[in-house]
Amino acid sequence: MSSLRVVGETREPAAARRLITIAGLEKTYRTRDGDVPSLKPIDLDIHEGEFVAVVGPSGCGKSTLLKLMAGLIEPTAGEIRIDGTLVKDPPDDVGIVFQSPVLLAWRTVLRNVMMPVEVRKLDRASHLERARKLIATAGLEGFENKFPWQLSGGMQQRTAICRALVHDPKIVLMDEPFGALDALTRERMNLELQRIHQETGKTILLITHSIPEAVFLADRVVVMSERPGTIAATYNVELPRPRRLDVMGDPLFSALTQTIRGHFYARGQID
Ligand code: ADP
Ligand code: MG
Repeated sequence: MSSLRVVGETREPAAARRLITIAGLEKTYRTRDGDVPSLKPIDLDIHEGEFVAVVGPSGCGKSTLLKLMAGLIEPTAGEIRIDGTLVKDPPDDVGIVFQSPVLLAWRTVLRNVMMPVEVRKLDRASHLERARKLIATAGLEGFENKFPWQLSGGMQQRTAICRALVHDPKIVLMDEPFGALDALTRERMNLELQRIHQETGKTILLITHSIPEAVFLADRVVVMSERPGTIAATYNVELPRPRRLDVMGDPLFSALTQTIRGHFYARGQID
């Protein structure tokens, strides 16, 4: 064991330091109707500050992968480590944005955003200021005291994103966060997410059903196969940053989206 620990403590150059290591990860859901194998062995390293996007067919295990990384469910085999530490319970250094905003209906925007601070018993005063800044950045100023039902779907999702960032986590996991948004809001959110990534150096994993969104935002796109999902391919996106929306007209951008789309043509829809 001690020799393993020494290996784990070896520091690589800052730019290439592995923050998340996923090794031999498998998940089979045990149900009354039998076993549902959902992930075949997954091996994936994510570097500090890296932006990874995951695309794959509907039901291939993307949300399962994210829940495992978030420590919300347990793997059947294999392991996930963050900074060398085995993920068992939800780690403090992780923020999560779920597929639907899951805001608490009886809490205001501000009190929804402050949830992770309360759950983790962090200093309220300093985080309150941070929450207000995030809310303003997300274009929700003036809505701090509104309830979820008083917001549009886009505003609810922006609230959920503020909530994922309020405790300043090093890692942000996002499960199709923009799926329900209209095209313009979605583009705005993409630009905003890129800005946050660039300015804060956070490590981000984004599940998306939009191949252009994946290529636009990510340093690396991971393509998953059908269930039980495993990694079919990964593509580095060598487009310079900051990327503007017109990068989508770049030949490199088109070539990459076409190549990734090619994984799905034969098999039908992606999710
Ligand atoms: P994706 O997010 O890629 O659409 P999921 O990770 O949600 O896929 O699900 C992968 C597979 O596991 C699906 O076939 C789904 O029906 C199944 N599954 C997900 N959650 C459960 C669960 N709690 N119990 C049983 N099966 C599940
Ligand atoms: Mg899903």
